[in-house]
Amino acid sequence: MGHLELKGLRKSFGGNTALDGLDLELAEGELVSLLGPSGCGKTTALRIVAGFETADSGTVTVGGKDITGVPANKRDMGMVFQAYSLFPNMTAAQNVAFGLKLRKADVKRTGELLELVGLSHLGGRYPHQMSGGQQQRVALARALAIQPRVLLLDEPLSALDAKVRVNLRDEIRRIQTELGMTTLFVTHDQEEALAVSDRVGVMSHGRLEQLDTPSVVYRQPATAFVAQFVGVTNSVLAKAEGQTVVVNGVTVPATHDQPSGSDVRVIVRPEDIGVSAHSGDADGKIVGDVLTQSFLGPVTRISVRVGEQVLRVDQPSNSAAAFQPGTRVALDLSESRIMVVPG
Ligand code: ATP
Repeated sequence: MGHLELKGLRKSFGGNTALDGLDLELAEGELVSLLGPSGCGKTTALRIVAGFETADSGTVTVGGKDITGVPANKRDMGMVFQAYSLFPNMTAAQNVAFGLKLRKADVKRTGELLELVGLSHLGGRYPHQMSGGQQQRVALARALAIQPRVLLLDEPLSALDAKVRVNLRDEIRRIQTELGMTTLFVTHDQEEALAVSDRVGVMSHGRLEQLDTPSVVYRQPATAFVAQFVGVTNSVLAKAEGQTVVVNGVTVPATHDQPSGSDVRVIVRPEDIGVSAHSGDADGKIVGDVLTQSFLGPVTRISVRVGEQVLRVDQPSNSAAAFQPGTRVALDLSESRIMVVPG
């Protein structure tokens, strides 16, 4: 049994379905992200767990106890939102102490909590005297002050700039692991979700498309939507032929059980394609023409036209060959790296 369980949650606003039967279980101490595009229902799910929104049907339980009808302030949940929600007229320390007082806990723990989020030296600052990242650390300390049974994070990093975001997400993960805090994290940023989660739930239209570890979601996407939403993909429509799929003359095993003749989508990640100058003999390789080459830091991305299709190919920048646009190249697809999902 999960520590936090969402069962059959449904919610509509007018005629608009935000949640369409959402089931989710978090084990004690687990961090699960809800990941999906804008409007897929992830915030609605979080708000129902927090008690800010009422589901049309379905239940939420914590530690086996049904809390569906319990008001938000009696739910023992810590929350951090996207927009900084600190009290502007209170210092960092007073903001955290407020959380402790709510719990009738010893305000002496303020120092401990500020230390946990790495802000011992800024306890006397007001929110307007702190950076966005520092304010979010205070918000996290305040949320943790009540010793919540569940921590709810609603896009807590999305207002921060890239570098601060990466640092703070690693800090959140460190603190969450240290405290063994069951955490539901809502984000639309796939890199963020993959980086911090025990499991990622990819949502679309109010439902979970897949719920699994970051590496399984990335390497074995259950659907074309998951493959395309998580990471960069090359995707080609094809037809299943028995246990195999033939695409561009390459026969690949159908990783999902697909009836013969059914539409499938063949997915290859850019880093799983090798590229070399074409030397005349294709030798079973796919041949194409370089359109562009862009330096992205760790990798260099080449777009290659193959017939009607443009494939993206990533090479580690430290060993990337330079290809001028128009260069004829041969692509090498390792069969074991090709994924086939229902079309
Ligand atoms: P975002 O990343 O943009 O916040 P989301 O995945 O969190 O998106 P939700 O905020 O849960 O999505 O919204 C799901 C759907 O429900 C959307 O179509 C949204 O317009 C609708 N919705 C959410 N809250 C309300 C509301 N209070 N009144 C009417 N419609 C709402």
